[in-house]
Amino acid sequence: MKKILMKTPIVEMDGDEMTRVLWKRIRETLIEPFVDLKSEYYDLGLVHRDETDDRVTVDAANAILKYGVGVKCATITPNAARVEEYHLKKTYPSPNGTIRAILDGTVFRAPIIVRGIDRYVKNWKKPITIARHAYGDVYKNTEFRVPGPGTGKLVFTAADGTVSEQTIFEFKGPGILQGVYNLDESIESYARSCFNYCLDVKQDLWFATKDTISKTYDGRFRTIFETVYENEYREQFEQNGLTYFYTLIDDAVARIMKSEGGIVWACKNYDGDVFSDMLSSAFGSLALMTSVCVSPKGCFEYEAAHGTVQRHYYKHLKGENTSTNSVATIFAWSGALRKRGELDQIPELVSFADCLEKAVIDTIESGVMTGDLALITTLPDPVKTDSFGFIDAVKQKLDELTKE
Ligand code: NAP
Ligand code: MG
Repeated sequence: MKKILMKTPIVEMDGDEMTRVLWKRIRETLIEPFVDLKSEYYDLGLVHRDETDDRVTVDAANAILKYGVGVKCATITPNAARVEEYHLKKTYPSPNGTIRAILDGTVFRAPIIVRGIDRYVKNWKKPITIARHAYGDVYKNTEFRVPGPGTGKLVFTAADGTVSEQTIFEFKGPGILQGVYNLDESIESYARSCFNYCLDVKQDLWFATKDTISKTYDGRFRTIFETVYENEYREQFEQNGLTYFYTLIDDAVARIMKSEGGIVWACKNYDGDVFSDMLSSAFGSLALMTSVCVSPKGCFEYEAAHGTVQRHYYKHLKGENTSTNSVATIFAWSGALRKRGELDQIPELVSFADCLEKAVIDTIESGVMTGDLALITTLPDPVKTDSFGFIDAVKQKLDELTKE
């Protein structure tokens, strides 16, 4: 078979532990036999991050800005135990955090829907994608424990020295105070990433805050989303038959439960933290959750939502058999290849990405799956494979699909 040719490289970011093992196998078995892969390779494995003082992560992020598309393996975010295990020079920050900051991006998480892995909410027929504004609010708060009677104030000193002051509360006894902030610029970038993503996947956007109560703070979020929509996106949304829908957060939650899915739900930071965990467990499995970081300028970085599956890796190192699910990592590759194909107008690359995803879904729906899914599937008599056995089974299906 003639391999599909590429024009522009994909930024490939290798990672750690079990997902690094799967990464190599996916590339060799499911990509390289079909695609004349052009990739610019960055080793984000912890050893190499340490060797380069984490420079490699920054270089990889800048390469995504340059080329527009990246695919990333899960990586270790070091803690004290990892510093000891890998004899690190320091506790490096999360690579995902570093990359997201450089892209000024937003992370969208979407479940992969497969027959036989049931949702807990029976009317969710299509994926619900969730976006989280990962900047500011309570995650960067300043807190104060009020010891006793006194006045809590909100004070802002402008650069020119002008002072604005408001009383928050007259305390008659002990209590608590909290200050939070956000930036117009960050909210605007977030809004653009959300509208871009929706245009990309051709889905409606929902956004919700509590602006009936928080008229200025949440109200600002609402206004910025509306302004960005009206000025930059309404026309494109209408051309694509898409809608932007704003509602109150409690109403959004009620509607989500009753919806059939197929929408993108943009959340403020805290709402996204809470509801992304709710959605991923309700959709069945973290190993079936994909993740893409989208920049306001339209750069895309694809990955799996899960981590490096450390426990399985230690088993693998001991020579024991593992049954680690590679589906979300394969979908990270297919997402990146499809996007590359769309941007470079290579229809064969787009259809290859479709075939690869279909091969994965057909494999699972035929009853062949890794242990994590075999435990929860409603299909009768599932066949449990080991980590590599699953990839080999997908390869068989892919061979059949690409022959047609
Ligand atoms: P994890 O790698 O997501 O795994 C937690 C548990 O979930 C596993 O032990 C396994 O359960 C199950 N699991 C997750 N993915 C699976 C898969 N593909 N197939 C089968 N089972 C799967 O989280 P962690 O163990 O808490 O974190 C390990 C490392 O990953 C940490 O160093 C963390 O920093 C990093 N991390 C990276 C990212 C990222 O790069 N995006 C995200 C999260 C965490 P059983 O053990 O019960 O089989
Ligand atoms: Mg959380």
